[in-house]
Order: sequence, then C-alpha cells, then structure tokens
Amino acid sequence: MERIDLKALEKPELELQLSENGFQRFRAAQILDWLKKGAKTASDFKNLPAELKNFIETRCYISVAIIEKKQISRYDNTVKYLFSFSDGECVESVVMRYRHGLSVCVSTQVGCRMGCAFCATGQGGLSRNLTASEILAQIEAAQEDLGERISNVVLMGMGEPLDNFDNVVRFIRLVTSEQSLNIGARHITLSTCGLVPRIYELADLKLQINLAVSLHAPNDLIRAQTMPVARAYSMDSLLRVCGDYFERTGRRVTFEYAMISGVNDSDNCARELGEKLSPLHCHVNLIPVNSVEGTGYDKSNIKRQQSFVKILTAHGVAATVRRTLGSDIDASCGQLRRKHINEGGK
Ligand code: SAH
Ligand code: SF4
Repeated sequence: MERIDLKALEKPELELQLSENGFQRFRAAQILDWLKKGAKTASDFKNLPAELKNFIETRCYISVAIIEKKQISRYDNTVKYLFSFSDGECVESVVMRYRHGLSVCVSTQVGCRMGCAFCATGQGGLSRNLTASEILAQIEAAQEDLGERISNVVLMGMGEPLDNFDNVVRFIRLVTSEQSLNIGARHITLSTCGLVPRIYELADLKLQINLAVSLHAPNDLIRAQTMPVARAYSMDSLLRVCGDYFERTGRRVTFEYAMISGVNDSDNCARELGEKLSPLHCHVNLIPVNSVEGTGYDKSNIKRQQSFVKILTAHGVAATVRRTLGSDIDASCGQLRRKHINEGGK
C-alpha cells in the first residue's frame, strides 16, 4: 500500500485520512503543529497516542531534503544547496540575500524535459517530478540550516513548474497556508518557459502569485533556435496569455531574457521586442547568459546590454539588467547537480 505523504496534505485532507483510519479528526491539528516545528520521524510527535505514532511510522512518510553539498559565495552571501531525497535523487536550491530579506529559488523537477539549449538542467532530460512536499522541504531545510526566515520564493530552480502542474499548485497552496510557512502569494514567483495552455489554467486559479516568462528572443524563429517549446506555442499566443494573466489576476508579468552574444542581442532584436511588449503591462529582466559547458554560448558584452535597455526603455518597456548573484558557486540552475553527476552521484 502506498504510504501517505503527510506534508503534502492540506488540513481537511489529513482529517479525512485520519478518520478513515479510525483516528479522531482533531489529531490533524496536532500533527500539523509538530510538522511545523520540524518533526521528521514518528517519535518527534510527542503528545500523540502510541497507536497514532505507529500509524505515522508504518503508513505515512515525511519528506525531508538532505543537504548533500553547500556552497557560500564569497562575493554576496548567496548560498547554494544540493539536496537529496529518499530515493537519492538530487536537486538544487539557492538562497539569495536581498535588502528586503531572504529569497529562495527552489526546484520543481529532477531535471527537465524542455531541452533549452543554454540550460544545464535541460541537457540531461527529466528524471522525475518533485512532490509538493519535496518542493516545500527545500525551503524548510534551508531555513533550518540558516536559522533565518525566508520571505520570498521563486520557482526558478531545476525543472519546468507548469510541466508538474498539480504538485506545484498544491505546493503553492501549502506554502501560503497557516499550517505551513504562511508566505504570501505575492511573495511567490513562478517562472515558466511558456506552456500556454497551462498558463491559462494557472490564471483560472487566481492565485495572486507573480508570473515570470522566459522569453529569450523577440520572435519565433530566434526563439526556436534555443527553446524547443517555441515550436509548440507561438510567441503571439504566449504574449496573448500573458496579457490575459494580467487582466485576470492584476499581477504584472515579468519577462526573462538571457542575453546571448550574437544570438538574440542585436539592436534589431531589441526594437522588435520593444514593439511587441509595449502594449503589455510588464517588466523585462535582462540576464547575461551564464555560459554552460558544452553549449557554446557566451554572454553579451556590457555595451550590448546597455544598448538593449536603452531601446526597450525608448519603447516604454521597463527593463533592467539583473545582478547575477553567486557567480562563483555555479549558481545558475542545474550546474551544481551536473557536476555532482559527473563525479558519480545521481
Ligand atoms: N523552467 C522554468 C524555470 C526554471 S529555469 C523556465 O525556464 O522559466 C529559470 C530561469 O533560468 C529561466 O528564465 C531560464 O531560461 C534561465 N536560465 C537557464 N539557463 C540559463 C543560463 N545558462 N543563463 C541564464 N539564464 C538561464
Ligand atoms: Fe527546463 Fe527552464 Fe532549463 Fe528550459 S530553462 S530546460 S524550461 S529548466
């Protein structure tokens, strides 16, 4: 029989599980309380009857993320973790320190099947989806290790969140709830490579989270050179759903644009992008691409970056070059795990 993933349940679901197994519903609140305090094994649930502890031990499990590696940047205090789960699979999470507090970048899948050419995660394909509790466990483990509260969450680590839709939505409901970390939806950002039908579904849920869309090109032709997903969904349809997302949720959409030398960083690219984005209520994050071994892509130089910002601004599109944090610790998604695999890990 499949074990019950305790940390993935919302309170009413846990109550139901308990009553179906002959326990009183009010025990749910106690269990959630102990989980919030960091309970990891049945013996940690101090005030529960032995029978219920036994049920937890034999019929349930508690997701934990175990620190396999930890790197701290010398430049900016960015901390990068390689976490493993019960089956030995590993993912990366990064904690960044901003003036307004700590922000964590979590993974949603082990690997990714979207195959973007510049991305270290995309090179290895998808191993498996993460459960909602495993996504949550990354934040809990980082918080416990650092001894500080994390106030912002970005779903920008390994994996395509909307390719793991149900678990990711469950995670968002959990992490924003009082039973768990109680982080406001407006402090959560989901980044997607642009799975158009899934963005409509997400908008339907009206979750109040921020949406970031990885664009990385001004048109389908250039986009398809590095992002296979561009062949499935046109940029027109993608920009349409972004407009829709804003109208329905009131949340501004951010576009991610990794600047790759000679591929997507010309003035013409900037003009075309500016024209397409000017009707939208959006912000563009320009990120000099992080060179990943074997991809052959280099970051655009400062002059190109500045010219791009200038042209976008002239079109009325807000754009900034994003500070790259943790550049000395393989902080770009997927790089640390790839190294770990090359060294014989999973
Ligand atoms: N799959 C989602 C979220 C994870 S990737 C997505 O693609 O949006 C998080 C961000 O890192 C995306 O914007 C992605 O395009 C970007 N990224 C991946 N590899 C990169 C690299 N080598 N340099 C700069 N950005 C990169
Ligand atoms: Fe997957 Fe995002 Fe990497 Fe593309 S950039 S391969 S969607 S993780």
